[in-house]
Amino acid sequence: AETAETFRYESDISRLRTLVIHSLYSHKDVFLRELLSNANDALEKLRLTSLTERGVMSAGEPNVTISVDLDEGGETGKIIIRDTGIGMNKTELARNLGTIARSGTNEFLRKAEEGGGADGNLIGQFGLGFYSCFLVSPTAHVSSLPPATEANPNPEQYTFISSASGDTFEVVRDPRGNTLGRGTEIILNIDKDNMEFLSTSNLKALIDKHSTFSTTFPIYIRERKQVDNPDREPEDELEYEHVWTHVNDKAPIWMREPTEVPDEDYVDFYRAVSKDATADPLGWSHFKGDTASGVSYRALMYIPASLPKDFWNSIQSGANNVRLMVKRVFITDDLGVEYMPRWLSFLKVTVDADDLPLNVSRETLQNHRFLKQLQKILIRKAIDLFTRLAENKPDEYREVAKLYGNALRIGMMESDKFKVKLANLLRFESTRTNYTSLAEYVENRKEGQKQIYFMAGVGEKTEDLARSPFVEKLKARGYEILLLNLPSDEPMMGALNNYMGMKVQDVAKKGLLYGDEEEDAAEQRELAQQNIAFKPLIQWLERVFKGQVMDVILTNRLVTSPCTIVVEHHGWSANMARIMASHAG
Ligand code: ADP
Ligand code: MG
Repeated sequence: AETAETFRYESDISRLRTLVIHSLYSHKDVFLRELLSNANDALEKLRLTSLTERGVMSAGEPNVTISVDLDEGGETGKIIIRDTGIGMNKTELARNLGTIARSGTNEFLRKAEEGGGADGNLIGQFGLGFYSCFLVSPTAHVSSLPPATEANPNPEQYTFISSASGDTFEVVRDPRGNTLGRGTEIILNIDKDNMEFLSTSNLKALIDKHSTFSTTFPIYIRERKQVDNPDREPEDELEYEHVWTHVNDKAPIWMREPTEVPDEDYVDFYRAVSKDATADPLGWSHFKGDTASGVSYRALMYIPASLPKDFWNSIQSGANNVRLMVKRVFITDDLGVEYMPRWLSFLKVTVDADDLPLNVSRETLQNHRFLKQLQKILIRKAIDLFTRLAENKPDEYREVAKLYGNALRIGMMESDKFKVKLANLLRFESTRTNYTSLAEYVENRKEGQKQIYFMAGVGEKTEDLARSPFVEKLKARGYEILLLNLPSDEPMMGALNNYMGMKVQDVAKKGLLYGDEEEDAAEQRELAQQNIAFKPLIQWLERVFKGQVMDVILTNRLVTSPCTIVVEHHGWSANMARIMASHAG
């Protein structure tokens, strides 16, 4: 017989495993959620593979089964979790469960060592879920059998064995042979300290809490039930039998009627899909409809509690968070920018369509009319959701404006059609207040004011912007000036151009109008007089700065600063020139 092959955990993994085990000590129950989520992933992978590889799906129902084997005395025992998913061959067992340092590893280590690991939510997010089995079991036995394919018609079952401590693990040909029809079996050894997990009713409650929403395949648990025997005499011993109970048999939340779903359920579902047990979504929209092409769909959209950590990457790559299901079966979460514009990639969306063909490849799907209509639906619903929040839940909306302000600005630049609606959603700091909309700005304008004034400086403090000489004169005259410091602010203002009939005006550029121009005319006359007096100085400055400035002029725009540099109306401001230079660099 083949001997076991011993592997050494990569040093990072070894460190991580220890860290996971220690930091999650008080959140042991996450192990079940993580193992079920892996089982569900494996079943989804199998389904996708079966679209291109014939015969892969043939054996057995795709499902997950959980059973408990009590030792004598009932205080210790085993939990056995099986799935009929894609499985792992010998190499994959070693690689996926033991040796590969995954992309998020370093970030996880940093966060966890800073103390963030203790809340039980980090591991799922960082692809370390498997190690949570060591929270309840000193050992893990993972046996796996991939499906037979044309390339590999006779797969063999292998077992991965590891203990919670120790730097090595083994992979061995399963001495029992191919006992699984297909898929993966995990055996956990539960000791007395963790005996609560040997109770099937406790396990069922945990599944209800964490997994009913996020698992799409059936989960069965083996339970001991009393036999209802009408012929039993009172003195006879009770009879028991084992039955498989379908645990997650409720309709998924997005399939229910929006009016019948309580808010807590929306929050729970969000927590399950975001793998963050304490986060509150900032808002959601649950809707259904029929497209012009006759496809009925239901969808659930969330504004996440925090900006996804890969948001700026996904703005570049076009990746998003839309999960497409057909009749409750997961199809893809890889739909691309044609279905969700980049600036909305932070939204978490589940779309379930009724009448799409189930067994089509992604390529065929992409040409389907429903998908062509999907993007429009999603943009419209997202903007409706933001608008509703801004009107009805100002506190939540304030957070949205803060977290997703850059995204909304980019959206405003990208979509002409929704330009005004998106402009309504923007919020700014100004010399008057630290939170205003454009509409509120316009409402508060000074008599005669014809422009919306702004001062921009990427990354600068708004207090510093407020002290700029450009702002001084306007402020002195009682005008409000928007203080903008996001990278997207200035290009967005350029694209907006005007709002409610008022032109937006960069106070550092030519074209500034005060609205009290009569007063100005008198000053102009006075300036003309002074011009004569200042002529020698102006001529001298022109000589000194020849080739560097276009013109030297006398101005009444400054209050306390002696001079300033102004940009031509169509030229780049110093600020924009800086953004461009930083990109070129
Ligand atoms: P993640 O699920 O985020 O990738 P995990 O630590 O939970 O991280 O799992 C690591 C990897 O092990 C998975 O990506 C998958 O390749 C593999 N794996 C884990 N459980 C199973 C399973 N039940 N069936 C098939 N592969 C699995
Ligand atoms: Mg996982």
